[in-house]
Amino acid sequence: MKNKAQFEPSQRLKELPPYVFAEIEAKKKALEEKGIEIIDLGRGDPDLPTPPHIVQRLAEALKTPHFNRYPSYVGITEFRRAAARWYKKRFDVSLDPQTEVISLIGSKEGVSHAPMAYIDQGDIALYPDPCFPIFYTSILFAKGKPYPMPLLEENAFLPDLGKIPQEVAERAKLISLNYPNNPTTGVATKEFFSEVVRFAKKYHLAVLQDLAYSEIFYDGHYVPSIFEVDGAKDVAVESHSLSKTYNMAGWRIGFAVGNAELVNYLSLVKTNIDVGIFEPIQLAGVEALEGDQTGVDELRKVYQRRRDILVAGLREAGLTFNIPQATFYIWVRVPTGHTSASFADHLLDKVGIMVTPGHGFGKSGEGYVRFAFTTPDEDLTEAARRLATLKKGV
Ligand SMILES: *Cc1c(COP(=O)(O)O)cnc(C)c1O
Repeated sequence: MKNKAQFEPSQRLKELPPYVFAEIEAKKKALEEKGIEIIDLGRGDPDLPTPPHIVQRLAEALKTPHFNRYPSYVGITEFRRAAARWYKKRFDVSLDPQTEVISLIGSKEGVSHAPMAYIDQGDIALYPDPCFPIFYTSILFAKGKPYPMPLLEENAFLPDLGKIPQEVAERAKLISLNYPNNPTTGVATKEFFSEVVRFAKKYHLAVLQDLAYSEIFYDGHYVPSIFEVDGAKDVAVESHSLSKTYNMAGWRIGFAVGNAELVNYLSLVKTNIDVGIFEPIQLAGVEALEGDQTGVDELRKVYQRRRDILVAGLREAGLTFNIPQATFYIWVRVPTGHTSASFADHLLDKVGIMVTPGHGFGKSGEGYVRFAFTTPDEDLTEAARRLATLKKGV
């Protein structure tokens, strides 16, 4: 008979940081059991439906013969062509669909496998702090050495490349970025991307830039791709996702584009691990990228309206934050005397609003909490009303 203690998790798993979100989830449950209605602004999980013409395309694809077969590992040609055409239309960037585009099972999958393709044990990988946790854990899984680049408000939440010690830069093989940024909502300029490309060339780094939020922008703000910068294709790969733009988070479809060698290395990792995306989903992905785009404009309007409701409430509460130009988050500074954890608790206890404490995204996230607005208007209006009462209460 097997002894209970017979299995130890791998060193990889043991090295993972504690999951700070579990504690706050447990608190939420406890309050809900007491009958308190919690408004969950913690998770960024698109709540609106996938546009019907995309769903329709999936339904049609299920009627074709052989839809059940193993799909193409790197993505069917139609999907990779659609991704290349989308980049041309959106950013005026030309890509070869055969060598410079690969399908991903969501952007997260690409980000998680990239370090395995680009670094060896002990290599330094530069990553943004705070970040979407996979940027950090994927480096650990690849046995690399994660080196944080703090994203600070005084620097518009862009990393200060000049502050990276030369000996670190020389030992690094990968730099990862995510603009528009989750969780800080920072946006990158082309000038910043130029600086990244120069830095990467100087130190022979691969650049991994996650563009998942490119279409979630406000007030006409222009979101660039890194490939709008000369020479970026020599060093970079950029991942994109249909999750946010088309409300397709559960479908698991995205793609990576850029330097043919880097795209190829990523595809070598993937062909040894997964077998690509269910083909009917890829065909629906083609429809998403090439079909009617009016849903995307509508989506931005919905998020902008929600953003403004939440902004009004946060102002009433006397909190300090930047109005986001992109993403569906607001990154709010915690009031003096609070930590990220204590303020998240305070919001939950006093006004029944759940947010994500900033330190859960990394050390430099301490001092902030993240509000997501992937929640219906009515809930946000109620959240704003509750926030307005907060000032008097504290
Ligand atoms: C939501 C999000 C994604 C999208 O991930 P998918 O795997 O494509 O669903 C990617 N990167 C960041 C930073 C995100 O917040």
